Formats: sequence, structure tokens, C-alpha cells
Amino acid sequence: MRPFIYEQPQDIRTAVAVASRFASDGDQPTRADAQFIAGGTNLADYMKLGVAQPSRLLDLNRLDEPALREITVGDNGIRFGALVRMGEAADDSEVKRRYPVIADSLRLAASGQIRNMASLAGNVLQRTRCEYFRETSWACNKRVPGSGCAAMEGFNRQHAVLGTSEACIATYHGDFAQALIALDAVVRVEGSRGARNIAFAKLHRLPGDTPHIETELAADEIVTAIEVPALPWAARSMYLKIRDRQSYAFALASAAVALDLDGDSVREARIALGGVATVPWRASAAEAALQGKKLDEMSAGTAAEAAFAHANPGRHNAFKIELGKRALVRALLETRDMKV
Ligand SMILES: Cc1cc2nc3c(=O)[nH]c(=O)nc-3n(C[C@H](O)[C@H](O)[C@H](O)COP(=O)(O)OP(=O)(O)OC[C@H]3O[C@@H](n4cnc5c(N)ncnc54)[C@H](O)[C@@H]3O)c2cc1C
Ligand code: SF4
Repeated sequence: MRPFIYEQPQDIRTAVAVASRFASDGDQPTRADAQFIAGGTNLADYMKLGVAQPSRLLDLNRLDEPALREITVGDNGIRFGALVRMGEAADDSEVKRRYPVIADSLRLAASGQIRNMASLAGNVLQRTRCEYFRETSWACNKRVPGSGCAAMEGFNRQHAVLGTSEACIATYHGDFAQALIALDAVVRVEGSRGARNIAFAKLHRLPGDTPHIETELAADEIVTAIEVPALPWAARSMYLKIRDRQSYAFALASAAVALDLDGDSVREARIALGGVATVPWRASAAEAALQGKKLDEMSAGTAAEAAFAHANPGRHNAFKIELGKRALVRALLETRDMKV
């Protein structure tokens, strides 16, 4: 690991000011000299591997704003402070009762130790686990723009089938993000140009021909909170995760589903897919296919077909299309049968 300076700013204003001082115009957060660290379970890993090389770490854990560590439930929805730990949010009784898809997505992620260390903002901003990205001797457009992509012709079993580009097929590996995108969450951000809200659906960028630009955040912007509105379909929701083993593994395919039902008919469906796409993936075509329909195996199957209609597999990951469809059908039927 390269030497770096470690700082513990006491308030958001100072943290932003230091980040701003070390950021050049247009710097990406993941390529800036000064980078924020929360739980460190992702960033420290990539620093040890030589993938991330900040010369200054700004530890957010001493920031004095209590709201950064709080979960607040109100009539309009739920607000998660950015520094709330994954484990805390997964175990929160109101989250479990009102937003089961959120609690499930966090409970099924990583291990107990990591969930106790990792923050919610850090979780949604985690970077891909593409093996070629993690090993610096391989060509990787995300790590070194313009260098090529070793995964295209390499072992791409874990890689994405949706949202891919000629430059990058890396999967977005997180779980929580799927629940957030299905529930229309908003990310609250503070930076040197002031505070702003970003729709969660707009936070992550498709790789296109600039896979090194991963989010809409500027290098001096801190995520302060994630807000989820109170929606009629939030309580009837779940997250289904399929993985190689039943714990401590990333999703091969996953589905976050939230339903507003009128009897067995779908008033509104919210669907997001994980493990199969380059970014947290809202399956809008599947949602539209279900609108007004009786939800049964047949209509769920039609929705799953729609979700993967534009899938583009590599040599080793075509199985994810069938796996993803089956995961979605199961998640839809189990969500329909939930007792709410
Ligand atoms: C073995 C292993 C298994 C795992 N399995 C899963 C899994 O199954 N599902 C899953 O979802 N995740 C999984 N993870 C990933 C883990 O959940 C993430 O590493 C963790 O959530 C990151 O949170 P953190 O607070 O530690 O982030 P950090 O490592 O501190 O930061 C991650 C990134 O976010 C930025 N950042 C952090 N906080 C802020 C903020 N407030 N504002 C702006 N930028 C910020 C950092 O600069 C950095 O770029 C696994 C990790 C490991 C090591
Ligand atoms: S898939 Fe993306 S992250 Fe992986 S090697 Fe190719 S460019 Fe890099």
C-alpha cells in the first residue's frame, strides 16, 4: 500500500473544503487525490490492491452531525443517515415492517462483521468486483481509461448481461441499491457548490465509453442521507438473492420487488435486478408488462422475458439470463403471497 495522509474532519463543511482543495476540475471521486472513507471495507481493499491510490483519506466517522448516524421514520418516508451501518438498518424494526425489501437486501449482503463496519453510503458507492479490475496487471478501461478490457475475452461468468458497452461489462455487485432504485429513493449530497438531491436512479452511470466515470458525484461531494418516500407498495416488498453459496457471497442474480395489488391484479409493480447489470437496474419493461394484469406464473414469466429482452451475454455468463428470469418470477409470486 502507498503512504497516505489520514485526516478526521469534524464537520461536513471542513471535509468538503479539504476535498475541494485537492480536487482538480472534473475529477472523479474514485480518482481524486483526497477521498472520503467510511467503513473502509471497499476503499481500503482497493488501496491494498493498488487499484485506488488517494494520497489523502478523509475519514467521515468523526463528523459531528448526529443525523448522519440516524434512521428517521416519518409520515413522508424514511431517512437513513449516510453513516448508519448496514447491520443497524437491516435490524431496525420499522425498516423491517415498512420496507421489507430494504431490510432483506441488507441482511442478505456480505457477512455480519462487514455489515457492522460498512456504512449505507459506502455500500451504494462500492466499486465493482470484476477480477480484472482488481488485479492491476490486467487491461481494464475502468481502472486505466483506454487500456482495454480483459474480461471481454476472459472468464466473464460473474459479469453483466444488461447495460454493458464495448468498453466494460463489469457487474454492479451491491444489494441495497436494488431496493433503493425500486422504491424511488433520493440521495442527499453536500459539496462545495451547495447541497443537492439526486434521484437514486441517476446516481450510477452506465459504462458507455467512459466506464471510469461511475457516478454523478463530484470529488468534493459527500452523501449525507438516503431518503425513501412512503409509497403504497413499500410494505409488500421483498429481495430475492441467488448466489453460489448461501452466505458471504455476491448475487449471481437478484430481484427487488414491490407490489401494489388490487386482489390478485397489479395496480403498480416496482422491480429492480441485481447481479446481472452494470448499474443498479430498474426493470421498467417488466413493470409495464404487469400493469393491470392478474399476477400469476404466466404474467410473471412474460414480465421476466421483457426484463431480459435486451440482454447481451458474454461467453461464460449466458446462464444469468435464465437464472435472472427465474429469480424474478419467484420473487413476484412470493411478494404477491406475502401477508401484509
Ligand atoms: C468479502 C466481502 C463480501 C461482500 N459481500 C457483499 C454483498 O453480498 N452485498 C453487498 O451489497 N456488498 C457486499 N460487500 C461490499 C460491502 O458491503 C461494501 O464494501 C461496503 O458496504 C462499503 O461500505 P463502507 O462504508 O465500508 O465503504 P468505504 O470502503 O468506506 O467507501 C466505499 C466508497 O464510497 C465512498 N464513500 C463512502 N462514504 C461516502 C459518503 N458519505 N459520501 C461520499 N462518498 C462516500 C468512498 O470514498 C469509497 O469510494 C462485500 C464486501 C466484502 C469485502
Ligand atoms: S469489465 Fe470493466 S472493470 Fe472489468 S476488466 Fe473490463 S473494463 Fe475493467
